[in-house]
Amino acid sequence: MRVIRISPRGYCYGVVDAIQLARRVARDPSIPRPIYVLGQIVHNRHAVEGLAQFGIINLDGDDRTTLLEQVNAGTVIFTAHGVSPAVKERVRQRGLHCVDATCPDVTRTHDLVKTLVTQGYQIVYIGKKGHPEPEGVIGEAPEHIHLVTDEQDVAALQLSGARLAVTTQTTLSKWDTEALIQRILERYPEAVVYNEICLATQQRQEAAVQQAQQADVVIVVGDVRSNNSNRLVQVVQELAGKPAYLVDNVQDIDPRWLEGKTTVAVTAGSSTPSEITRAVIQYLERL
Ligand code: SF4
Repeated sequence: MRVIRISPRGYCYGVVDAIQLARRVARDPSIPRPIYVLGQIVHNRHAVEGLAQFGIINLDGDDRTTLLEQVNAGTVIFTAHGVSPAVKERVRQRGLHCVDATCPDVTRTHDLVKTLVTQGYQIVYIGKKGHPEPEGVIGEAPEHIHLVTDEQDVAALQLSGARLAVTTQTTLSKWDTEALIQRILERYPEAVVYNEICLATQQRQEAAVQQAQQADVVIVVGDVRSNNSNRLVQVVQELAGKPAYLVDNVQDIDPRWLEGKTTVAVTAGSSTPSEITRAVIQYLERL
C-alpha cells in the first residue's frame, strides 16, 4: 500500500502551547493543588490521558460554569478553546488559582466581538452548538451575539436596525462557512464579515483536499469530538470526492476500506498527538 503523508497535519501551535503549559504547571511545586483542566485541554482522548499521567484532573461536561462547581480548591486550567467572562469571574469568586491556555487565535475572536459590541454591532456568529469555543465567545456579550450553525438558523434570524457583523468559530470548514456567509449577506447585505477560521485549520483542510487527489482513500486520525478532525473528513469527501474515514487510533481501521485500493492518504486533526498518527502510517505502510 502506498501511503501519502498529507502535510501539514496534526498538532497546531495553539495545541502544542496548551499542552506544554499544562505540563509546566504540573511540574511547578508552587502551583496550588489539585490541578484541574476545565473540559478537555484539546479534543483528543490520548492528549487528555497524557496529562492525567502528570496528575492533572480532567473535568468533562456540558458547560464550564457547572463544571466549576465541582472544584473547591486548587488550580483550574482554561483550555485552548477559551472561556467566557462569567467563568473567569466565578473562578475569582471561588478563590481558585487559574492558568489560561486559551489559543491566541481564539483570544483574537474574543477581542473582536468585544470591540464590535462596543461599537454598537449585533453579531452573527457561525459556530457549532454545544462546543466550548462558541460558549466562551458568546459569553462575552450573550445579548448581542447570535449563534448560527446552518441555513435554518440563518432563516430564523430576526435582526433589524442595528449595525451587523458576521464572524466565525476558528475550526470550521472555510467552504461551509462561505456558503453560510452568503446566505446571511442575502438577508443582510450591509453586514460586515470577519472570517476567523485560523490559519492552522485552513492549511490542513487545503492540504487534505489537494493531496487527497492522488489517493484512493483518506484516513483522518482524530477524536470524534474534534471539530477540525470531523471537518477534514467532510472536506475530503465533499471537495476531493474521495472516501474518508475518521479513526481514533490504528485499531479503528476497517480493512474493508482498503480492499482493492493501492494508495491511501493520511492526515490528522490539529489536536491529534503525532505518535497516534505515526502508528496509523506504520500500519498502513506494512500492508
Ligand atoms: S486549531 Fe487554530 S484556534 Fe484551535 S488551537 Fe489550533 S491554532 Fe488555535
